[in-house]
Parts: sequence; C-alpha cells; structure tokens
Amino acid sequence: MPELPEVQTVVNHLARNIRGKVFGNVVINVPKMVNKDFAENLKNKKVQNVSRRGKMIIIDLAGGSALLVHLKMTGQLVFIDNKGKASGGGHPINSINFDVHSPNRFTRIILNFKDKTHLLFHDIRKFGWMRVLPDEAVEKIVAKYGIEPLSKEFTLKFFTALLGRRPNLKIKQFLLIQELIAGIGNIYADESLFAAKIKPLRQAKTLKPAEIKKLHQAVVSKLKEAIKYGGTSVNTFVQATGERGRFVERLKVYKRGGQSCLSCHAALLKTKIGGRGTVYCARCQK
Ligand SMILES: [Zn+2]
Repeated sequence: MPELPEVQTVVNHLARNIRGKVFGNVVINVPKMVNKDFAENLKNKKVQNVSRRGKMIIIDLAGGSALLVHLKMTGQLVFIDNKGKASGGGHPINSINFDVHSPNRFTRIILNFKDKTHLLFHDIRKFGWMRVLPDEAVEKIVAKYGIEPLSKEFTLKFFTALLGRRPNLKIKQFLLIQELIAGIGNIYADESLFAAKIKPLRQAKTLKPAEIKKLHQAVVSKLKEAIKYGGTSVNTFVQATGERGRFVERLKVYKRGGQSCLSCHAALLKTKIGGRGTVYCARCQK
C-alpha cells in the first residue's frame, strides 16, 4: 500500500500538474469506487490546491468542495499531458501486467480536464476510491485522522503521551493506527523499528524513554528520507519526474525476511503481527 512518502510524492506531482485545471467529463468503469453524483459534482470544477492527510489525497475545488482520493492497496494515479506523456505514482504495478502509461484493463476511472489532459485511476484490486464532498464533510473525515508525523506538533513529548493511550499494544501495531499517527504503514513501521533497534513485538508500555526518543527520531527521519528519494517502488512505478521511487534501494528490512541483516548479517525473521507481515532482526532489535 502506498504510505505517507508515496502519497506525498503523488501529491507533489499532482500539485505541479493539475492546479488551475477544470474538470470536464468523467468515465467511471467501476461505480462502487466513487460516491453518488460524482461526475456531476466534479464537472466544471477548478482545482485550487492538492494536499494530503495521512494516506488520503485532498484535491481542493473552487466553490466549497473537494475531491478525495484514497489509493488503498493497489491504486495509482497517472497524469497524461496534452502531448500524451504520462507520469504518476502510487502502488508499484509490474510492467508484465500492463503498460502503466495509458488506459488499460486496470483503469477504473478517467478524469478528463477541459484542456485535453487526463488523470487515470488504475487499481488492480478496486479497494481505492474517489469522492467529491462538500468542505464540511471533508473536515469531519480529516478530523478523525491522527497526528501528522512530519508536523511540528509531533514532538517527543506528544509521541510519549500518545504511547500511553494504548500501552498494551505491540509497538508495530501501534504505529499502524491511523487515528493515532496518520500515514505510517507496513514499510515505514518496520524500517523505523529497525532503525530504532526495537523489536516490533514489544508492548508500547515497555519502551524506555531513550527508546521512545530513538523511535520518534527514526519515524521522522525515515519518512523524510523516503520523500527525498521519491518513495518506495519497484518495477515500473513512475513518479513526477518519470523516475522510479528510489527508496526501495534503501530498505533495510521490509520484504527482506530470510535475507541477512545489513548490520549484523544474522538472518532476518519474518512474522505476523496483527495480521501484518513483519520483518525484523532478533539480534539488532531488542
Ligand atoms: Zn541484525
């Protein structure tokens, strides 16, 4: 699933490409992925701004509404300019399946702009969604999200207090709760815990102050590093510049179960925590 850095990469890309554009007709191939009167409510609306809350994309529209997009497990947004050149991002989908750059069997929604450019929503599993909602409804949804880990409000003190709210939870599970901290998923939970040398199975309440400090720093630095490298992607994932997200080369534990630890060379262990695949080093992480 695209996480905070991948979604931020998409947002940066969209902000550069679609701000000021006006929506025209919409093609909806999978009706359950949009809300009621979607096409009607989007038509003739001008894009004012593009931002993010957690893993959700918010496209502000003139006139008091917004287009919300959630990429969920396998969503991708691809922008096609008026020369037919495509760029985009989200979930990395293997090139063997289809050409990421143009409409294909995984294209669920096509948003046409009046200037003959397009935004394609590809999604293999169809869990992603797009909704046009009035600003008041958007505010209600946004209010349910936890703190943004890259905001200045996410201090060590705040993080420490937050841990106290779910003391019995395993720290890996804690990091994934969007109502507490918004935007962290499996990739950055595992990478942050490895960087902080903390075992993902530990209960939140067992973390010592020095460990909480290390974890807080690790979460912030891993997310920032991933945004700098355009997120984590493999295969044909393309981002704003048409390049692949390069953070994949910097992953230490995610998807590396059974391979050797890059610090101590022990075999990395793979387990499930709260149903989520988790990889860690039993020697480096205490
Ligand atoms: Zn190790």
